[in-house]
Amino acid sequence: MIDSHCHLTDPRLGEQLQGVLDRAAAAGVTRMITVGTSLEDDRRCVELCRRLPQVRCAIGIHPNYVAESNLEDVDEIASLQMDPSVVALGEMGLDYHYSQETKSRQRDFFIRQLELARKAGRPVVIHCREAVEDTLAILRDFTGVLALFHCFTGTLHEARQVVDAGYYLGFGGAVTFKKSEALRDVAREVPTDRFVMETDAPYLTPEPMRKIKINEPAMVMHTAAVVAAARGCDVDEVDRLSTASVRRFFGWDSQ
Ligand SMILES: [Zn+2]
Repeated sequence: MIDSHCHLTDPRLGEQLQGVLDRAAAAGVTRMITVGTSLEDDRRCVELCRRLPQVRCAIGIHPNYVAESNLEDVDEIASLQMDPSVVALGEMGLDYHYSQETKSRQRDFFIRQLELARKAGRPVVIHCREAVEDTLAILRDFTGVLALFHCFTGTLHEARQVVDAGYYLGFGGAVTFKKSEALRDVAREVPTDRFVMETDAPYLTPEPMRKIKINEPAMVMHTAAVVAAARGCDVDEVDRLSTASVRRFFGWDSQ
């Protein structure tokens, strides 16, 4: 299993990194993609990958970090993304839940990063919260840029729009929550070649660990079990499909 989205540079994981990696390996999570949220964090991600062959990274500026970032940071990312450990740009996108007041700035950063993705031929990891319509509208101007809506929490109708546009969905801890019946419907219906598994660790710990521990890559297996139950298959099948999609989407070729 690959955890397609985690934040290993977050101090909550970084301070106990060896334990996190050991527990992941014991659970069968042998590879992971760590995702940057600001230029400073992006640099840490690349640095971390140089030490850990089982880890790759996506680098970008998260919509909740645009207030303290500069548009010129994207030019720095343009050079940084040439590092062989980088498999995508992001996370990038729009968050209307936490950051309403920076809407237009979020849009500027999103577009600037999509321009880079198009130029560099990179897929993008999208953070989208209560903004599916605007996100898809912006992406429409960037045909040819492949997108993954990470930790998808939209409706079935929105999931269909994302899939119909040719994009991928990521399932994280939210799909395991008791109230997430609608999200399990999405997990059941998504085509076999359009979803990937993730944790978004240290955030969004899946059930049944939700109130017990901060999230870490090993726990992707709890989420995979819920997706398997929703789809009426076993966890190995979810692993196989997700792994194939991670390899296809990110172009990650090691086995
Ligand atoms: Zn994230």
